[in-house]
Amino acid sequence: MRAKMMVRTVSGVACAAVLVTSAVVAAPASPDPRSTGGGECTKNAYNCVGAANPLPPNQTVWIERMTWMDVRDAIAAGKTTAIIPSGGIEPNGPWAALGKHDFVAQTMCEAVARKLGNALCAPVVPFVPHGTFANDSSQNETMGTIGVHDETYSALIGDIARSLQMQGFKNIILVGDHGGGQKVLQELAQKLNHEWGRRSAWYIEEFYDSWNGADSLLQHEMKVWKAGTDDGLHDDPNVELQMVLVDPELVRWKERVKADKATINGVSVADLNAVRGWGRKIVDYRVGVTVDAINKALSAGAQK
Ligand SMILES: [Zn+2]
Repeated sequence: MRAKMMVRTVSGVACAAVLVTSAVVAAPASPDPRSTGGGECTKNAYNCVGAANPLPPNQTVWIERMTWMDVRDAIAAGKTTAIIPSGGIEPNGPWAALGKHDFVAQTMCEAVARKLGNALCAPVVPFVPHGTFANDSSQNETMGTIGVHDETYSALIGDIARSLQMQGFKNIILVGDHGGGQKVLQELAQKLNHEWGRRSAWYIEEFYDSWNGADSLLQHEMKVWKAGTDDGLHDDPNVELQMVLVDPELVRWKERVKADKATINGVSVADLNAVRGWGRKIVDYRVGVTVDAINKALSAGAQK
């Protein structure tokens, strides 16, 4: 069957004959359907698809920190939602590290997955679009920034989603902490659902939009940041509070306090306990908004 198709698509008879011969010689032995986990079932029973996990359930929500058995058992236990969080590496002024969105997405995904209770996180994807690669003042020109074309981003996230979907995750949640690429994620979710013939991919815009609500919370309710006070940097108190939760040195905290430069938009970040407290409130808010949006989306049509 395969050889016949090759003959039809190749015009030279001699060439076709070579292809027919090589197709016969190269026919692979059929793989053992019991083998999984990176090895052969016949060589070690832990490579067999149904092998019992020798350890208790792994409590992390990060797929990359689990074994294949941990993920298999988590799915079987009902953790059938996978979140694919996008971060980003971009310039944010002199204080905040380039990987801002990666660190924020890390905190957010962990908290969202734990609050949902039935979800795991794929690794944070740091490669997101930052405009074109033309010499036109896009962020890609700034030292340290790493950008990808929209098409690359869509292909990358799409393949991560396809991997997870074929393994048994029923709901694949696409979220991005960076503004660029939101439309790409939205269109990708539609494309994947069309490809799969059912609604399994969900783009959750509230994850990104909650940055605005968090700004408002910080300014108008918590009254930490006076509205309109702006240093004109691609950085603000909201950014720094969330980064400090991961590591204060991501905003050069120690050096700034020493150099009397520990302020952003009129807000002092010198009191680490206060900053961490504000950060936790902001993350709680963003997580609440995101979890509500995910639950609403899934109850409107997800597979249980
Ligand atoms: Zn960004």
